[in-house]
Amino acid sequence: MPRILDPDLRRALAERVRYYHELGVYDFYRRTPQAMPASATILEPSSTLQPELREEMPARKSAAAPEENIFEVLTPNPEYGIADPVAALKLIREDLGDCTRCKLHKQGRKQIVFGVGNPRAELMFVGEGPGADEDTQGEPFVGRAGQLLNNMIKAMGLRREQVYIANVVKCRPPGNRTPERDECETCSPFLMRQIAAIKPKAMVALGAVAAKNLLAINAPMSELRGRWYDFTPAGARSSDPSWQGTRLAVTYHPAFLLRDPRQKGEAWKDLQMVMKYLGIEPPKKAAE
Ligand code: SF4
Repeated sequence: MPRILDPDLRRALAERVRYYHELGVYDFYRRTPQAMPASATILEPSSTLQPELREEMPARKSAAAPEENIFEVLTPNPEYGIADPVAALKLIREDLGDCTRCKLHKQGRKQIVFGVGNPRAELMFVGEGPGADEDTQGEPFVGRAGQLLNNMIKAMGLRREQVYIANVVKCRPPGNRTPERDECETCSPFLMRQIAAIKPKAMVALGAVAAKNLLAINAPMSELRGRWYDFTPAGARSSDPSWQGTRLAVTYHPAFLLRDPRQKGEAWKDLQMVMKYLGIEPPKKAAE
């Protein structure tokens, strides 16, 4: 039966593999699945996952869940050791290929929306998933919400080309529904690798879905916003050993701000916190 690694176990395995790599051990062998004790390394979703997250993301359907190969965890990612973020992102994109790893590949996507922007960006924005416009154009945040995000970036004194923008899932969920947990868990390792390749100084999670997936904590937006989180991309390793992760802030998703413009002031406070950290002076006339 197809199974998925528990995220905590996946992280633990990745850490152990990293440790072996540091010792110079690169070759690993595995037992056949039949020989593996059922409780040893492959687990069903842990009952310790946050209940709110479980409610938001319906339970995984085993029939639709992709099978995860433990050996993938034990194999270094192709971009490992590549210092140039342009080359590293290219390798990650090639590794993603014409991805069919989760069920979103067969639910009407036109194309994979990998991410866009400066591979050496100091600031990275992460949303939840592509919408119709993004699916058509192959670029994240290009619709109305994208226009607002552009204005937010401009208000910070930056240009869209200076930052990097990506999503937790790279294929459009049908009807713009919230991506399901198994979809996020399957796709987000590629996002983690993108983050490790780009090594941003700061990240902004756009909306609760992105924040909860990145941080693996459950709280309302009112609690998630207004503070920094130390963030290290789980299971991904930067080629730069001096890079110990980034800081992550949470703000409202631009699509939410379009529905409730009264919250723009709150979002601006979040962005000001990011600007202060990055040492960015706001332009004389900030965008709304
Ligand atoms: S959402 Fe991600 S994991 Fe799922 S098919 Fe698309 S690229 Fe693959």
